[in-house]
Amino acid sequence: MEDLKTLVERYKAEIMAEQPQNAAEKEAFRIKYLGTKGLVKSIMGEMKNVSPENKKEAGQLLNDLKIFTEQRFASFEDDAGDENDIAEGVDLSLPGSPVPFGTRHPISIVSNRIISIFSRLGFSVAEGPEIEDDFHNFSALNLPENHPARDMQDTFYIHQNPDWLLRTHTSSVQIREMQQGKLPLRIICPGRVYRNETISARAHCFFNQVEGLYIAENVSFADLKQTLYFFVQEMFGNTVKIRFRPSYFPFTEPSAEMDISCLICGGEGCSVCKKTGWVEILGCGMVHPQVLENCGIDSNKYTGFAFGMGIERITMLKYRIKDLRLFSENDVRFLRQFESA
Ligand SMILES: [Zn+2]
Repeated sequence: MEDLKTLVERYKAEIMAEQPQNAAEKEAFRIKYLGTKGLVKSIMGEMKNVSPENKKEAGQLLNDLKIFTEQRFASFEDDAGDENDIAEGVDLSLPGSPVPFGTRHPISIVSNRIISIFSRLGFSVAEGPEIEDDFHNFSALNLPENHPARDMQDTFYIHQNPDWLLRTHTSSVQIREMQQGKLPLRIICPGRVYRNETISARAHCFFNQVEGLYIAENVSFADLKQTLYFFVQEMFGNTVKIRFRPSYFPFTEPSAEMDISCLICGGEGCSVCKKTGWVEILGCGMVHPQVLENCGIDSNKYTGFAFGMGIERITMLKYRIKDLRLFSENDVRFLRQFESA
Protein backbone atom coordinates (compact mmCIF):
# COMPACT_ATOMS: atom_id res chain seq x y z
CA MET A 1 0.00 0.00 0.00
CA GLU A 2 2.80 2.38 0.90
CA ASP A 3 4.47 1.50 -2.38
CA LEU A 4 1.34 2.51 -4.25
CA LYS A 5 1.21 5.84 -2.46
CA THR A 6 4.83 6.58 -3.34
CA LEU A 7 4.20 5.58 -6.94
CA VAL A 8 1.17 7.90 -7.27
CA GLU A 9 3.11 10.83 -5.78
CA ARG A 10 5.96 10.22 -8.23
CA TYR A 11 3.60 10.17 -11.20
CA LYS A 12 1.90 13.36 -10.04
CA ALA A 13 5.27 15.13 -9.87
CA GLU A 14 6.12 13.84 -13.33
CA ILE A 15 2.79 15.01 -14.76
CA MET A 16 3.19 18.46 -13.20
CA ALA A 17 6.58 18.79 -14.87
CA GLU A 18 5.13 18.21 -18.34
CA GLN A 19 4.90 21.41 -20.43
CA PRO A 20 3.62 20.60 -23.91
CA GLN A 21 4.45 23.49 -26.26
CA ASN A 22 2.18 22.71 -29.18
CA ALA A 23 -0.70 20.57 -30.32
CA ALA A 24 1.57 17.61 -31.16
CA GLU A 25 3.19 17.59 -27.72
CA LYS A 26 -0.18 17.91 -26.10
CA GLU A 27 -1.45 14.87 -28.00
CA ALA A 28 1.68 12.98 -26.91
CA PHE A 29 0.83 13.82 -23.30
CA ARG A 30 -2.69 12.51 -23.75
CA ILE A 31 -1.52 9.22 -25.25
CA LYS A 32 1.19 8.75 -22.64
CA TYR A 33 -1.01 9.32 -19.59
CA LEU A 34 -4.67 9.10 -20.58
CA GLY A 35 -4.62 6.80 -23.62
CA THR A 36 -6.01 3.24 -23.57
CA LYS A 37 -2.47 1.94 -22.98
CA GLY A 38 -1.54 5.02 -20.98
CA LEU A 39 -0.11 5.26 -17.53
CA VAL A 40 -3.35 5.94 -15.67
CA LYS A 41 -5.07 2.89 -17.21
CA SER A 42 -2.09 0.62 -16.51
CA ILE A 43 -1.73 1.68 -12.88
CA MET A 44 -5.44 0.95 -12.42
CA GLY A 45 -4.44 -2.64 -13.23
CA GLU A 46 -2.45 -2.67 -9.95
CA MET A 47 -5.77 -2.83 -8.08
CA LYS A 48 -5.86 -6.63 -8.47
CA ASN A 49 -2.69 -6.91 -6.38
CA VAL A 50 -4.11 -4.85 -3.50
CA SER A 51 -5.34 -6.72 -0.45
CA PRO A 52 -9.14 -6.57 0.16
CA GLU A 53 -8.86 -4.39 3.32
CA ASN A 54 -6.87 -1.77 1.35
CA LYS A 55 -9.02 -1.81 -1.76
CA LYS A 56 -11.14 1.17 -0.78
CA GLU A 57 -8.18 3.43 0.02
CA ALA A 58 -6.29 2.33 -3.08
CA GLY A 59 -9.34 2.95 -5.23
CA GLN A 60 -9.60 6.55 -3.97
CA LEU A 61 -5.89 7.07 -4.50
CA LEU A 62 -5.98 5.93 -8.11
CA ASN A 63 -9.18 7.76 -8.89
CA ASP A 64 -7.55 10.88 -7.50
CA LEU A 65 -4.60 10.39 -9.86
CA LYS A 66 -6.95 9.99 -12.80
CA ILE A 67 -8.80 13.23 -12.03
CA PHE A 68 -5.48 15.02 -11.42
CA THR A 69 -4.18 13.93 -14.81
CA GLU A 70 -7.37 14.91 -16.64
CA GLN A 71 -7.37 18.36 -15.05
CA ARG A 72 -3.75 18.86 -15.95
CA PHE A 73 -4.54 17.94 -19.55
CA ALA A 74 -7.54 20.31 -19.61
CA SER A 75 -5.31 23.15 -18.36
CA PHE A 76 -3.23 22.89 -21.57
CA GLU A 77 -6.36 23.45 -23.63
CA ASP A 78 -6.56 27.24 -23.14
CA ASP A 79 -2.86 27.91 -23.66
CA ALA A 80 -2.58 25.71 -26.67
CA GLY A 81 -5.49 27.47 -28.45
CA ASP A 82 -3.35 30.37 -29.66
CA GLU A 83 -0.71 28.03 -30.98
CA ASN A 84 -3.34 26.24 -33.00
CA ASP A 85 -4.51 29.54 -34.52
CA ILE A 86 -0.98 30.30 -35.67
CA ALA A 87 -0.79 26.83 -37.11
CA GLU A 88 -3.97 27.65 -39.07
CA GLY A 89 -2.36 30.71 -40.63
CA VAL A 90 -3.51 33.64 -38.45
CA ASP A 91 -0.81 36.30 -38.32
CA LEU A 92 -1.01 38.03 -34.95
CA SER A 93 1.36 40.77 -36.07
CA LEU A 94 -1.24 42.14 -38.54
CA PRO A 95 -3.16 45.31 -37.51
CA GLY A 96 -6.58 44.58 -35.96
CA SER A 97 -9.94 45.10 -37.65
CA PRO A 98 -10.77 48.79 -37.25
CA VAL A 99 -13.82 49.80 -35.17
CA PRO A 100 -15.56 52.57 -37.15
CA PHE A 101 -15.99 55.89 -35.37
CA GLY A 102 -19.49 57.23 -35.01
CA THR A 103 -20.46 60.68 -36.21
CA ARG A 104 -22.26 63.48 -34.46
CA HIS A 105 -25.91 63.78 -35.39
CA PRO A 106 -26.42 66.80 -37.70
CA ILE A 107 -29.01 68.20 -35.27
CA SER A 108 -26.42 68.05 -32.47
CA ILE A 109 -23.78 69.70 -34.66
CA VAL A 110 -26.07 72.62 -35.55
CA SER A 111 -27.50 72.86 -32.05
CA ASN A 112 -23.99 73.12 -30.56
CA ARG A 113 -23.07 75.72 -33.17
CA ILE A 114 -26.11 77.85 -32.33
CA ILE A 115 -25.34 77.61 -28.60
CA SER A 116 -21.73 78.61 -29.21
CA ILE A 117 -22.72 81.67 -31.30
CA PHE A 118 -25.20 82.97 -28.73
CA SER A 119 -22.93 82.22 -25.80
CA ARG A 120 -20.48 84.72 -27.31
CA LEU A 121 -23.23 87.33 -26.90
CA GLY A 122 -23.67 86.43 -23.24
CA PHE A 123 -26.61 84.02 -23.56
CA SER A 124 -26.58 81.03 -21.24
CA VAL A 125 -28.38 77.73 -21.84
CA ALA A 126 -31.59 76.97 -19.91
CA GLU A 127 -33.48 73.68 -20.01
CA GLY A 128 -36.83 72.45 -18.77
CA PRO A 129 -39.20 69.47 -18.79
CA GLU A 130 -40.65 68.07 -22.02
CA ILE A 131 -43.87 67.15 -20.22
CA GLU A 132 -45.43 70.47 -19.29
CA ASP A 133 -48.58 71.82 -17.74
CA ASP A 134 -51.05 74.04 -19.53
CA PHE A 135 -49.96 77.19 -17.68
CA HIS A 136 -46.28 77.07 -18.72
CA ASN A 137 -46.94 75.96 -22.28
CA PHE A 138 -50.01 78.08 -23.12
CA SER A 139 -51.74 80.26 -20.53
CA ALA A 140 -48.68 82.16 -19.31
CA LEU A 141 -47.79 82.87 -22.95
CA ASN A 142 -51.01 84.72 -23.58
CA LEU A 143 -52.68 81.65 -25.07
CA PRO A 144 -55.69 81.21 -22.77
CA GLU A 145 -58.01 78.26 -23.25
CA ASN A 146 -60.15 78.61 -26.40
CA HIS A 147 -57.63 81.03 -27.95
CA PRO A 148 -57.69 80.29 -31.70
CA ALA A 149 -53.87 80.35 -31.88
CA ARG A 150 -53.82 77.13 -29.86
CA ASP A 151 -54.99 75.37 -33.01
CA MET A 152 -51.63 76.12 -34.64
CA GLN A 153 -49.94 74.21 -31.84
CA ASP A 154 -52.07 71.13 -31.28
CA THR A 155 -50.13 68.65 -29.22
CA PHE A 156 -50.36 65.38 -27.25
CA TYR A 157 -52.16 65.34 -23.91
CA ILE A 158 -51.75 62.91 -21.03
CA HIS A 159 -55.03 60.98 -20.85
CA GLN A 160 -55.26 60.68 -17.07
CA ASN A 161 -54.52 64.36 -16.55
CA PRO A 162 -55.54 66.72 -19.37
CA ASP A 163 -53.54 69.53 -17.74
CA TRP A 164 -50.33 67.72 -18.71
CA LEU A 165 -49.10 67.83 -22.27
CA LEU A 166 -46.00 67.44 -24.38
CA ARG A 167 -44.60 70.95 -24.80
CA THR A 168 -45.17 72.53 -28.20
CA HIS A 169 -42.24 74.94 -27.90
CA THR A 170 -39.40 75.66 -25.51
CA SER A 171 -41.09 78.95 -24.54
CA SER A 172 -42.25 77.06 -21.46
CA VAL A 173 -38.64 77.10 -20.29
CA GLN A 174 -38.57 80.88 -20.72
CA ILE A 175 -41.64 81.16 -18.48
CA ARG A 176 -39.95 79.07 -15.81
CA GLU A 177 -36.83 81.23 -16.00
CA MET A 178 -38.80 84.49 -15.89
CA GLN A 179 -40.75 83.28 -12.85
CA GLN A 180 -37.49 83.00 -10.94
CA GLY A 181 -37.28 86.76 -11.31
CA LYS A 182 -33.50 87.08 -11.75
CA LEU A 183 -33.12 90.05 -14.08
CA PRO A 184 -31.60 90.89 -16.47
CA LEU A 185 -32.24 87.57 -18.17
CA ARG A 186 -30.35 86.39 -21.24
CA ILE A 187 -30.98 82.74 -22.12
CA ILE A 188 -31.33 80.33 -25.01
CA CYS A 189 -33.43 77.21 -24.62
CA PRO A 190 -32.63 74.31 -26.95
CA GLY A 191 -34.74 71.17 -26.77
CA ARG A 192 -37.19 68.74 -28.28
CA VAL A 193 -40.79 69.82 -28.80
CA TYR A 194 -43.98 68.07 -30.00
CA ARG A 195 -46.86 68.89 -32.29
CA ASN A 196 -49.82 66.82 -33.42
CA GLU A 197 -48.90 66.98 -37.10
CA THR A 198 -48.92 64.55 -39.99
CA ILE A 199 -45.39 63.37 -40.69
CA SER A 200 -44.08 64.55 -44.06
CA ALA A 201 -40.87 65.81 -45.65
CA ARG A 202 -41.45 69.22 -44.04
CA ALA A 203 -43.26 68.42 -40.76
CA HIS A 204 -42.93 65.92 -37.93
CA CYS A 205 -44.67 65.17 -34.67
CA PHE A 206 -41.45 65.99 -32.84
CA PHE A 207 -38.59 68.32 -33.68
CA ASN A 208 -35.97 70.49 -32.00
CA GLN A 209 -36.12 74.17 -31.26
CA VAL A 210 -33.87 76.87 -29.96
CA GLU A 211 -35.55 79.85 -28.44
CA GLY A 212 -33.84 82.94 -27.10
CA LEU A 213 -34.95 85.51 -24.56
CA TYR A 214 -33.40 88.76 -23.42
CA ILE A 215 -35.10 90.84 -20.74
CA ALA A 216 -33.57 93.95 -19.22
CA GLU A 217 -34.23 97.68 -19.02
CA ASN A 218 -34.36 99.52 -22.34
CA VAL A 219 -34.19 96.49 -24.63
CA SER A 220 -35.48 97.51 -28.06
CA PHE A 221 -36.31 95.98 -31.42
CA ALA A 222 -32.94 97.30 -32.67
CA ASP A 223 -31.21 94.96 -30.18
CA LEU A 224 -33.27 92.05 -31.48
CA LYS A 225 -32.39 92.86 -35.06
CA GLN A 226 -28.67 93.24 -34.39
CA THR A 227 -28.54 90.02 -32.33
CA LEU A 228 -30.20 87.98 -35.05
CA TYR A 229 -28.11 89.60 -37.78
CA PHE A 230 -24.96 88.59 -35.90
CA PHE A 231 -26.29 85.05 -35.54
CA VAL A 232 -27.13 84.67 -39.22
CA GLN A 233 -23.73 85.95 -40.34
CA GLU A 234 -21.93 83.58 -37.98
CA MET A 235 -24.11 80.67 -39.02
CA PHE A 236 -24.37 81.15 -42.79
CA GLY A 237 -21.60 83.60 -43.73
CA ASN A 238 -21.03 87.34 -44.16
CA THR A 239 -22.83 87.68 -47.48
CA VAL A 240 -26.24 86.62 -46.15
CA LYS A 241 -28.90 89.34 -45.95
CA ILE A 242 -31.90 89.39 -43.61
CA ARG A 243 -35.39 90.85 -43.77
CA PHE A 244 -38.26 91.06 -41.30
CA ARG A 245 -41.91 90.54 -42.17
CA PRO A 246 -44.69 91.56 -39.78
CA SER A 247 -46.35 88.55 -38.21
CA TYR A 248 -48.54 87.54 -35.29
CA PHE A 249 -47.69 85.56 -32.14
CA PRO A 250 -49.80 85.84 -28.99
CA PHE A 251 -46.69 86.20 -26.79
CA THR A 252 -44.88 88.99 -28.68
CA GLU A 253 -45.87 92.47 -29.82
CA PRO A 254 -44.78 93.57 -32.35
CA SER A 255 -44.01 90.18 -33.93
CA ALA A 256 -42.02 89.37 -37.02
CA GLU A 257 -40.80 86.48 -39.10
CA MET A 258 -37.27 86.69 -40.30
CA ASP A 259 -36.04 85.58 -43.72
CA ILE A 260 -32.49 85.18 -44.97
CA SER A 261 -31.43 85.57 -48.56
CA CYS A 262 -31.50 82.18 -50.31
CA LEU A 263 -28.24 80.30 -49.83
CA ILE A 264 -28.71 78.31 -53.03
CA CYS A 265 -29.33 81.08 -55.55
CA GLY A 266 -28.04 84.05 -53.54
CA GLY A 267 -31.35 85.86 -53.95
CA GLU A 268 -31.90 85.36 -57.68
CA GLY A 269 -34.79 82.93 -57.19
CA CYS A 270 -34.76 79.12 -57.34
CA SER A 271 -36.95 76.15 -56.40
CA VAL A 272 -35.72 76.12 -52.76
CA CYS A 273 -36.82 79.73 -52.17
CA LYS A 274 -39.84 79.29 -54.46
CA LYS A 275 -38.46 82.00 -56.80
CA THR A 276 -38.61 84.66 -54.08
CA GLY A 277 -34.91 84.80 -53.20
CA TRP A 278 -35.77 84.60 -49.48
CA VAL A 279 -36.09 81.70 -47.02
CA GLU A 280 -37.92 81.97 -43.71
CA ILE A 281 -35.86 80.81 -40.74
CA LEU A 282 -37.40 82.08 -37.51
CA GLY A 283 -40.09 83.96 -35.66
CA CYS A 284 -39.37 86.75 -33.18
CA GLY A 285 -40.68 89.86 -31.51
CA MET A 286 -40.78 92.01 -28.40
CA VAL A 287 -42.11 90.07 -25.39
CA HIS A 288 -45.77 90.97 -24.83
CA PRO A 289 -46.18 93.08 -21.63
CA GLN A 290 -48.91 90.69 -20.47
CA VAL A 291 -46.46 87.77 -20.61
CA LEU A 292 -44.02 89.71 -18.42
CA GLU A 293 -46.80 90.49 -15.96
CA ASN A 294 -47.92 86.81 -15.96
CA CYS A 295 -44.44 85.98 -14.70
CA GLY A 296 -44.36 88.72 -12.09
CA ILE A 297 -42.08 91.11 -14.03
CA ASP A 298 -42.83 94.86 -14.04
CA SER A 299 -43.61 95.60 -17.69
CA ASN A 300 -43.25 99.35 -17.16
CA LYS A 301 -39.64 98.91 -16.11
CA TYR A 302 -38.49 95.95 -18.21
CA THR A 303 -38.73 95.10 -21.88
CA GLY A 304 -37.37 92.16 -23.78
CA PHE A 305 -37.18 90.32 -27.05
CA ALA A 306 -37.67 86.66 -27.87
CA PHE A 307 -37.05 84.51 -30.90
CA GLY A 308 -37.48 80.87 -31.81
CA MET A 309 -36.29 78.66 -34.62
CA GLY A 310 -36.49 75.02 -35.60
CA ILE A 311 -33.06 73.38 -35.51
CA GLU A 312 -34.13 70.95 -38.25
CA ARG A 313 -34.94 73.88 -40.54
CA ILE A 314 -31.55 75.52 -39.96
CA THR A 315 -29.82 72.17 -40.48
CA MET A 316 -31.72 71.50 -43.70
CA LEU A 317 -30.67 74.88 -45.05
CA LYS A 318 -27.08 74.52 -43.94
CA TYR A 319 -26.55 71.00 -45.29
CA ARG A 320 -29.14 71.20 -48.09
CA ILE A 321 -31.18 68.30 -46.75
CA LYS A 322 -34.53 67.91 -48.48
CA ASP A 323 -36.44 65.61 -46.12
CA LEU A 324 -37.03 66.23 -42.41
CA ARG A 325 -37.72 62.55 -41.78
CA LEU A 326 -34.07 61.65 -42.42
CA PHE A 327 -33.14 63.10 -39.02
CA SER A 328 -35.02 60.45 -37.09
CA GLU A 329 -34.69 57.40 -39.34
CA ASN A 330 -31.21 56.43 -38.08
CA ASP A 331 -30.01 55.49 -41.54
CA VAL A 332 -26.22 55.27 -41.23
CA ARG A 333 -25.76 56.10 -44.91
CA PHE A 334 -27.22 59.51 -44.09
CA LEU A 335 -25.60 59.98 -40.67
CA ARG A 336 -22.15 58.94 -41.91
CA GLN A 337 -21.98 62.07 -44.07
CA PHE A 338 -21.47 64.35 -41.09
CA GLU A 339 -18.34 65.21 -39.18
CA SER A 340 -16.70 62.56 -37.07
CA ALA A 341 -17.42 62.77 -33.38
ZN1 LIG B 1 -33.15 80.46 -54.06
